Amino acid sequence: MGAQQVIYPLLYRHAIMPIMALRDVEERNMSAHLRELEKTQWLTREDLIRKSETKLRKLVQHAATSVPYYRSLFQRLRLDPRDIRQIKDLQQLPPLTKEILGENLEALTTPGTEGVRLRHQTGGSTGEPTILYVDNRTRKSWSRAACLRAWEWAGWRSGEKMCNLWGSYLDRPTRPPITERLYHLSQRTSWLDAFALSEEALPSMVDRLRRLRPVALRGYASALYVMGRYVLENSIQDVRPRLILTTTEKLYDRQRSTIEKAFGCPVFDYYGNRETNLIASECPEHKGYHVALENALIEVVRDGVQVPAGESGDLLITDLCNFITPLLRYEVGDQVRVTGQDCPCGRGLPVIDEILGRSHDIIVTAEGGYIHGELFTHAFWDCAWVKKFQIVQESIGHLGVLLVGEPKGHEDDLETALAYLRRYVGAKMTIDVNFVSDIPQTRAGKFRFVVSKIHDSGRTAAIGTSLEGTHDVR
Ligand SMILES: [Zn+2]
Repeated sequence: MGAQQVIYPLLYRHAIMPIMALRDVEERNMSAHLRELEKTQWLTREDLIRKSETKLRKLVQHAATSVPYYRSLFQRLRLDPRDIRQIKDLQQLPPLTKEILGENLEALTTPGTEGVRLRHQTGGSTGEPTILYVDNRTRKSWSRAACLRAWEWAGWRSGEKMCNLWGSYLDRPTRPPITERLYHLSQRTSWLDAFALSEEALPSMVDRLRRLRPVALRGYASALYVMGRYVLENSIQDVRPRLILTTTEKLYDRQRSTIEKAFGCPVFDYYGNRETNLIASECPEHKGYHVALENALIEVVRDGVQVPAGESGDLLITDLCNFITPLLRYEVGDQVRVTGQDCPCGRGLPVIDEILGRSHDIIVTAEGGYIHGELFTHAFWDCAWVKKFQIVQESIGHLGVLLVGEPKGHEDDLETALAYLRRYVGAKMTIDVNFVSDIPQTRAGKFRFVVSKIHDSGRTAAIGTSLEGTHDVR
């Protein structure tokens, strides 16, 4: 490790951060929150829950008395805000869906906060964008602090070089160019455009990484996987970050192992969404995702009712930091599983064992069964000739398979893959294969392996883009 690599992070933490904090209230809050989060992670689970439930009671009190939507909801349900004291009590409230948020934004927003609020918008690559308001003095500082803590778990220190393989147009710099550039210079962050990721662009992107020599490489799992495959296929040995951070999409095991092999370093995945920002992240034990419980409460539910530990269900988030547009039991549209076991690292923060993915990445069989999208990805992982693939369900009883690649000479391979699909989807499902020259990314620059266009009123109804990029990628 060079002297610069040791000195700059120290300089950053003890000189640059305090100077930025003097000039900017958000930076000041962020530094203080980070120091707090670095301590609270070691509290016991019980103490952490107790602290979060204290915040929950404040939030519920505020929502039920000052926010029109919740005021009338509590009246209608004949509930007193004091009835909701613990996480289990939240079940008295219905989940807040994206549709409800979309239709009731003003009623869900605290009146009189125009001067201190910031409009916050999700990408909406498959549905209408979701809009909500956050407090511009505190909200971002809490989520940024949680993000920095997660990156510290991965072994990154503030001020170390980070290169982002990113695509979302929402995260493009919005500051004046010179301030923005100075900011990124001090942060030592650089950007590669995940939108521009293509076979032709890969050599120059890898070249840029060689020159940048980042400590951390961060990006969408699918983009890093494409780059990792290229690095392996071309036996490239001189792009060696110390750690890799993946986010915004489900990270499949095959992607993780390929990326780790290609770059010779561990991958740390973290999970969040634009509405509530960072929710959970991996620690060095990689036993799941520690929930940033100081900022958000989570519930795993089926039909709004909390399921026992070890069972999977829909994830609901109660954002403890947003008093402008309070989100109580917000349905993000992902399914997860929590076993309730402790992580060997000793952190008291609860662990999401598995993020199963978005509810609308689920294929519905002609018989009415649900098959999680991940199953379909296994059909093509091992076909090296398949450059890209996507499974699209347009209707019940019909599955479209889009493939990019030259099938000549691989007919048996293709037949094996299709037989695998047929085994799971049943005889009533027809499967069409179409060869295409490319499969586009979503508007936010990400790639979806499975797309279900069926939206029934139940489990697969979550239209939207819950993993549409975490915030704060500066
Ligand atoms: Zn841990």
